[in-house]
Amino acid sequence: MDNGLHSTKDQKPTEEPSGADFFREPESNSPDSSAVELIPTFDQLGVKDDILRSIYAYGYEEPSPIQQRAIKPIIGGRDLIAQAQSGTGKTATFSIGVLERLDMDLRKVQAVILSPTRELAAQTVQVVEALGTHLGAVVHGCIGGADRPVSRDVRLLQQGGVKVVVGTPGRILDIFKRRAVDPATIKLLVIDEADEMLAFNFRDQIREILVGLPATTQICMFSATLSEDALDLAQHFMSEPLHILLKKEKLTLDGIKQFYVAVDQPRGGDDCKLEVLFDLYAVMSISQCIIFCNSKRKCEYLYEQMTAQDFTCSRLHGDMSSEERHAIMREFRTGSSRLLISTDLVARGIDVQTVSLVINYELPLVRANYLHRIGRSGRCGRKGMAISLITPRDVDSMRDIEGYYHTEVRALPSNPADLVTCY
Ligand code: ADP
Ligand code: MG
Repeated sequence: MDNGLHSTKDQKPTEEPSGADFFREPESNSPDSSAVELIPTFDQLGVKDDILRSIYAYGYEEPSPIQQRAIKPIIGGRDLIAQAQSGTGKTATFSIGVLERLDMDLRKVQAVILSPTRELAAQTVQVVEALGTHLGAVVHGCIGGADRPVSRDVRLLQQGGVKVVVGTPGRILDIFKRRAVDPATIKLLVIDEADEMLAFNFRDQIREILVGLPATTQICMFSATLSEDALDLAQHFMSEPLHILLKKEKLTLDGIKQFYVAVDQPRGGDDCKLEVLFDLYAVMSISQCIIFCNSKRKCEYLYEQMTAQDFTCSRLHGDMSSEERHAIMREFRTGSSRLLISTDLVARGIDVQTVSLVINYELPLVRANYLHRIGRSGRCGRKGMAISLITPRDVDSMRDIEGYYHTEVRALPSNPADLVTCY
């Protein structure tokens, strides 16, 4: 971002990276873990044939950089703190690790995977299921919501057979408290989006889950962003964890172009932002897009405003029923809905490969969520674009994000033709 915040002056985008170099990691993007062994092919991981078959059947040919580094230590039983940029395959990293650790002769839950949202937990269930197809591993999602009573989870788990449970912390705690799962057989606990999970909202629940597990349970944490605070906390309950970390200046992906639009907000209202948003509709409709705002109220407001202008969109936030949330996500994943207005509920983890544009109607309140939000585009080495609407009050926050992550956010070119070349 330059000083000319209030002019959306024309700027020709510089040359794009070639796109899908998901597997060839630029030196500057390699994790800071020189001591970690690199396993260049899935065949060399030494996993069961049934897992290998499922990996290939899922369409993966070679492991991504984090998969090359982190799967082997998980299989070896090590505690692990692993960081890799958004969209680089952390889910399969821990899913393959979990599946290989399972004793298929033991009809008990042996691994628990924690996710911060129902949407992410549901998505992770699908990945573990897919990668465990040939192994025949039964995976169950313990996901909150009025239409999914915990009694159903308890009944299903007590029948036996489930080997992996994926869930949100509250629901997982509930199934432990109801003794639907025997903590003694939990070999491995995975905490996805670990910095979010160790932040204030979830901290007590995570602590309670950890206290109930045997000291021998392996713990693996994953996130694109890891705060000092999260790392400090993690030391208390992990045993000599292997660290695979990234410097913060390596966290942004070259494939995601970042822009801002300076918006005046003379009356403190949203009129100017709305106008800019309506103007961007043509860009949004090129592919799939997520518009982020900071509150459920704003999310509803934007949805009403967009709908009133006959723009087709859907919206998602935590005050909606779980059936509704589920239906909206399904529509968005299948592409029948192409523009989603959401709170930070979908900022982390959600993988819809066709999303190539993220709009920050408001900058996130938590700095790390900027990276998570824009990382909903540019999955798996694809190109993406992020546009943040910046009022004079946001200038400092935008600069802070740029400085902290050593990244550049440029003024959006005013000529739409220039934008299209960004894809
Ligand atoms: P992260 O958790 O690191 O943000 P995900 O695990 O959601 O990223 O993966 C991002 C996308 O990359 C997913 O669509 C996933 O299926 C795909 N992916 C992961 N690993 C591979 C691989 N080895 N080959 C091809 N695609 C992969
Ligand atoms: Mg993820």
